[in-house]
Amino acid sequence: MAGLLEGRRGLIMGIANERSIAWGIAKSAQREGAELALTFAGEMLEKRVRPLAAELGSEIVLPCDVQVDSDIEAAFDSLGEHWDSFDFLVHSIAFANRDDLKGRFVDTTRDGFALALDVSVYSLIATVRAALPLLRPGGNILTMTYLGGERTIPHYNVMGVAKAALESAVRYLAADLGPSGVRINAISAGPVRTLAAAGIGDFRKILDWYEQNAPLRRATTQDEVGDAALMLLSDWGRSITGEIVHVDGGYHSVAVPPAAEDVE
Ligand code: NAP
Repeated sequence: MAGLLEGRRGLIMGIANERSIAWGIAKSAQREGAELALTFAGEMLEKRVRPLAAELGSEIVLPCDVQVDSDIEAAFDSLGEHWDSFDFLVHSIAFANRDDLKGRFVDTTRDGFALALDVSVYSLIATVRAALPLLRPGGNILTMTYLGGERTIPHYNVMGVAKAALESAVRYLAADLGPSGVRINAISAGPVRTLAAAGIGDFRKILDWYEQNAPLRRATTQDEVGDAALMLLSDWGRSITGEIVHVDGGYHSVAVPPAAEDVE
């Protein structure tokens, strides 16, 4: 039987290593027949991303720091030299200063706020705009969010505000892109041990709490997020856009998230 993404081409942004959520999505997409291109953020990362690209059989590996407009432009220009069009874009990128991911939200600095919102939200808008000329009608975009955008989660702080803005951006972009047949959605993943998660204060305790209280009583894995992403990236999700899909073992439906004292 042909794979769900047979004959489709996708660009995956945000693989830092084999723990990245984007790596889980890339593996699922490749298994279902997609041809993939990857971006990496800096020279240090290139060393880690190239072997992963080889594992996926991806020959297109492009530099792209999403804080730099000319990087975004150059990445999509290069992509256009390899592919005349493509089918899906995965944006799995976020950043905030470590100091802003612990303690009190009220202490967030102006610079820290701007940085978190720039890398984690504006980057989606900028990359989608750059991708549109190459994206096929019927194509789609997927980004990654977290429950901390809907509710207060201890230490998530400025990243929670960034995720709320990201989710709103998904809805506005869905309204813009829908008439040309392009969809955009977000997956709200449960906590997964990754490089980005390591920057969040008391992440281990948040993960323990989740494992004890999520209806499925276990952590979400990169592979589970990857498999759930297939529905949104493929024609199976063809009428879904502007949506936030929770892939978190049902945790978002639990009435009582941890209080700050529970993770101290
Ligand atoms: P990750 O492996 O550390 O991935 C984050 C990616 O963002 C890295 O590849 C990182 O590259 C990239 N990035 C940061 N700044 C960048 C920039 N200026 N330009 C280009 N790329 C940049 O962590 P992850 O947990 O998989 O995170 C992926 C997404 O999932 C994020 O949006 C995150 O908020 C979301 N998410 C994570 C969890 C979780 O518990 N892990 C749960 C829900 C949602 P560098 O390493 O070079 O900075």
